[in-house]
Amino acid sequence: MRISMGRRSFLKKATVAVAVGAVSPTLLMGKDSKSKKTSAKNGKYPSLEFDVIVVGAGTGGIPAAIRAAQAGAKVALVEEDMQVGGAPVDMFVPTLFGRPKVGLALDLEEELLRDHGLYNWDSGTDPVGWRFFLPAAYLQLLSRNIRAEKNITLFTGTPAIGVWAEHKGNRDVVKGIRIFRNGEIQDLYAKVTIDATGTGVVAAMAGCEYMYGSEAKSDFNEPYGFDTANNKVQLCTQMFISQRIKKDAIFPIGFKGSAAEDGYIGANRLGKEELERRATGIFFHWGQSVEVEDTTDPIQVSEAQRNCLEMYKDRFAQLHAAGFGIHIAPRLGVRECRRIKGEYVLTASNVLEGLFPDDTVAHAQYYLDCWGMELPKGVPEKLYGIPYRSLVPTNTDGLLTAGRVISGTRLAHSSYRVQRCCSNIGEAAGTAAAMASLASTGVRDIEPPKLIAQLETNGLFSAREK
Ligand SMILES: Cc1cc2nc3c(=O)[nH]c(=O)nc-3n(C[C@H](O)[C@H](O)[C@H](O)COP(=O)(O)OP(=O)(O)OC[C@H]3O[C@@H](n4cnc5c(N)ncnc54)[C@H](O)[C@@H]3O)c2cc1C
Repeated sequence: MRISMGRRSFLKKATVAVAVGAVSPTLLMGKDSKSKKTSAKNGKYPSLEFDVIVVGAGTGGIPAAIRAAQAGAKVALVEEDMQVGGAPVDMFVPTLFGRPKVGLALDLEEELLRDHGLYNWDSGTDPVGWRFFLPAAYLQLLSRNIRAEKNITLFTGTPAIGVWAEHKGNRDVVKGIRIFRNGEIQDLYAKVTIDATGTGVVAAMAGCEYMYGSEAKSDFNEPYGFDTANNKVQLCTQMFISQRIKKDAIFPIGFKGSAAEDGYIGANRLGKEELERRATGIFFHWGQSVEVEDTTDPIQVSEAQRNCLEMYKDRFAQLHAAGFGIHIAPRLGVRECRRIKGEYVLTASNVLEGLFPDDTVAHAQYYLDCWGMELPKGVPEKLYGIPYRSLVPTNTDGLLTAGRVISGTRLAHSSYRVQRCCSNIGEAAGTAAAMASLASTGVRDIEPPKLIAQLETNGLFSAREK
């Protein structure tokens, strides 16, 4: 068995990941001798066996873990943040976009409306037509839903830092992951691991092929896009929430940065009367957007966040003067990172024509919403199918992907990246992972009709739209 790191940069990643485990704890402790006695040897935390490991407790990972657990699998859900939730909690993504409204995403939305609804409780709908929820609402309900599943063991504050793999035939078979826990390493093993990290870092560590940036139009016969490939990904956005702190304060009408850089959803669609009427005084801002050259690099991402916050200074001052306080998302909103190349690459043409491949395991619908790229407006949206093959990375076994990292072109990704679609994909991945693991077969040996029948039973395809 070996730790397998991304082929493209094998030495670099291997050095870093092995070093974490191999460096003597005394070297990591610094000069304070008192800290010596608190630093245990590596091996403090025993290796553990599960049926399924899900890395990333976000929009795609939580449904994956829940469905795998409900199918009878023992599941490890691994999250690098100290809390679960992913984008709605740490990037302040406030709404569930996309269609169809089914499965666990719809259950969540109904719970959110019931327990944490904002604005018009009668209709359950914001006057602009969207349902917004506070990050804490997602955190509370997602935590509760994970807790309800006795088959899930949750690891928080524990990044996956390596992947265990064995070479078999012409493929690497992923056997588990290494996590970093409290200054120590711990190994977790399972027959199937799911990469639901939003960044695809687990698949990259496993040496899977991945796509980053824009393909050339001709690469996948895309209807729109660039003539030559480039490294551009969608703009990142620093989300924030403003909240009335002075009695009777009215949101500043006309509050806006330069139109291209700053928009705020909700408030800019409301007239004076509605702004005055609002009891909650809570506004969600799709704030400053910026280009980040390499969204796989956390240092570039955090530098971009600091730049955004600096650019916000005057706008925050304006809101504050009007009687509003500000909540800033802890993480910069990164829309696009690695897309893990799978047995099928879903294309924008598939999305636009509403293709349902035979191995469709999740339904999706949303327009091509590629921030930073001009696309024709008014192109009709259709329901389309996400094939199981898009969840299965090439040349690798024992690994599936869930959420926005699945295999698709950049333009196709700009559609299925939204929450309802990512959640549907997560359910499919978790159900498939449990099926393969409990039957001790490879993820490629699953019979799609059997998987689809189970997903149908779970209510993943029948819209219960309200
Ligand atoms: C600014 C912005 C606004 C958006 N607005 C909307 C919107 O209004 N409506 C909508 O439906 N969608 C919106 N989206 C898109 C949507 O929120 C995301 O695409 C979707 O939530 C992604 O889900 P995911 O599960 O793939 O990733 P995430 O929800 O980001 O979850 C990934 C999780 O993996 C964890 N992780 C990463 N690396 C590791 C590691 N090595 N070890 C352990 N854990 C790890 C992360 O901490 C995170 O919790 C928006 C996105 C952005 C950025």
